[in-house]
Amino acid sequence: MPNMSLKKVPAPEQKPEVRNKNFEEVTLCYTYEMAVTEAARCLNCKHRPCVGGCPVSVQIPDFISLISKGDLNGAFEAITATNSLPAVCGRVCPQENQCEEKCVRGIKGEPVAIGRLERFVADTHRALGAQRPNKIATNGHKVAVIGSGPAGLSCAGELAHAGYEVVIYEAFHRPGGVLMYGIPEFRLPKAVVLDEIENLKALGVKVETNIVIGKLFTVNELFDEMGFEAVFIGSGAGLPNFMNIPGEALVGVSSSNEFLTRINLMKAYDENYDTPIRHSKNVAVVGGGNVAMDAARSAKRLGAENVFIVYRRSESEMPARTEEVHHAKEEGIDFRLLTAPVEIIGNENSTVKSMKCIKMELGEPDSSGRRRPIPIEGSEFELEVDSVIIAIGTNPNPLIAGTTPGLKTNSRGCIATDDNMKTTREGVYAGGDAVTGAATVILAMGAGKQAAKAIDEYIKSL
Ligand code: FAD
Ligand code: SF4
Repeated sequence: MPNMSLKKVPAPEQKPEVRNKNFEEVTLCYTYEMAVTEAARCLNCKHRPCVGGCPVSVQIPDFISLISKGDLNGAFEAITATNSLPAVCGRVCPQENQCEEKCVRGIKGEPVAIGRLERFVADTHRALGAQRPNKIATNGHKVAVIGSGPAGLSCAGELAHAGYEVVIYEAFHRPGGVLMYGIPEFRLPKAVVLDEIENLKALGVKVETNIVIGKLFTVNELFDEMGFEAVFIGSGAGLPNFMNIPGEALVGVSSSNEFLTRINLMKAYDENYDTPIRHSKNVAVVGGGNVAMDAARSAKRLGAENVFIVYRRSESEMPARTEEVHHAKEEGIDFRLLTAPVEIIGNENSTVKSMKCIKMELGEPDSSGRRRPIPIEGSEFELEVDSVIIAIGTNPNPLIAGTTPGLKTNSRGCIATDDNMKTTREGVYAGGDAVTGAATVILAMGAGKQAAKAIDEYIKSL
C-alpha cells in the first residue's frame, strides 16, 4: 500500500543547542522502520522523472522498491551500479535541485526523501560489515589519476572495474579531496569517506599520498618515465579568491579553505591534536555558499559567541543548500544579508578589530542570472569582529597546467576539455572542479565517470 502522506518521514537530528557545541554528525540515519515507511511514499512512476534529475542516473525507483521489499543488499547493488560513493552522496548532494526536484510527489506535498533513503542503504550496508568488493583481474594497462576528490575517485573506480591498473596521486597526506579537507565532520564523517575509499582499494586502485604532480613528477614524466598510457586530472579548484579590499592581510583574516583544512584534515577541534587555530569571540564569514555555511557553523562549534554570515545578495540568491542555511540559522548563526564588506580594520597589533560594511539593494539580473547587488550610498556601518573568514569562491591551482605543455586552460584557469573530458594534450583527460570551477560532488563524480569511459576507448584505440 503506498503511503500517501504529504510529508517526508523526518530524519532524526541532534538538537541545535547541543550540536552547535560538538563536531558529531547533525542529521542521523533513518531506522529500518522509518526507511520502509518513507520508501512506501514512492509511486514507482513508469516515466521515472527522478532518474532524469540525477547526474549519474541512479535507478531511484528500483532501489526504493527493493527497500520496501526488505532487500537492502539488492538496493545497495542497484545504487552502486552507477554511483560509487552512495554514503557521501546521500549526505551532501543537493537533492532538492536534482532528483527530488523532479519527484512527482513534490507537486502536492514534499518529494520522496531520496537522499535520506540512499544514505540509509549505504550506512546499513557498512554497519552490517558488508564484504569489500573483490579485486578485478588486470588488463595490463596503466592509468594515472591526479587528485583523490570525487572526480578522481569515481574515474579510478570505473577504470578499476574495467581492469585497468590505476594509481591515484594525491598532494595531501590523506585521500578524499574536499570530502576530507573541506566538508566538516558534522556533515560528512571522515570514517564514511575513508570507508568508501577502502572499497576502491579493494578493487585494486593504488593511492599514493603526499605527491604533488607538477612538483615531484610532471604529467609528461607520468607518460614517459612511469609507463602510464593515459592521465586523468581531477585536481579540483583549491585556490581561494579574496575580495581585494583594504585589511585582508591583517592577523585574523583567513580563507575558508585554510580555516576548514585546519579543522577537518588537521583536526584542530580535537584537543588530542596540536593544530593551531584562532578561537574568536565574534566572527564574520563572507559569502553565501555551502562553504560559508560550513565555516560559520565550524566557528560556532569552536566557541565563538557571535558568528555573522555577511552576504551581498538576499537569501533567495544564496547558493548554499536550503538544508544548510536552515541548520545554520537553527544553530544561532546571524545572517547579515544585502551587506558587503568594504574594509577590514585592524588594531595597533595589526589584528582584526572590526569590518566596515555597506548595505546593498538588488537591481537587474547580471550575467549569472541573479539580481545585481548595488551599494546604498551612505549606509556604511562597522561590525565588531575579531576574525574574518573569506568564502567567496575558489579557482583551480595553476601548477599542473603550468607544467604540462599543450594543456589549454580558460581565463579562470579551468582546464579546457571537449564533451568527453578530453583535454588539448594527447592522452590527458580532466574533470570535476578543475574543469568547471567550484561545483558539486555529484557533478565531479559524473565527470570522472565519463572520462573513464573516454580513457577506455582511447587506450583500446592505441
Ligand atoms: P576536490 O574534491 O577538490 O579534489 C581534488 C584533489 O586533488 C584534492 O585532494 C587536492 O589535494 C588534489 N590535488 C590538487 N592539486 C594536485 C596536484 N598537483 N597533485 C596531486 N594532487 C593534487 N558539493 C556538494 O555537492 N554538496 C555539498 O554540500 C558541498 N559542500 C562543500 C563544502 C565545502 C567547504 C567545499 C570546499 C566544497 C563543497 N562542495 C559541496 C563542493 C564539492 O566538494 C566539490 O565540487 C568537489 O569536491 C569537487 O571534486 P573534485 O574531485 O573535482 O575536486
Ligand atoms: Fe518515486 Fe518520486 Fe521517482 Fe516517482 S518521481 S519514482 S515517486 S522517487
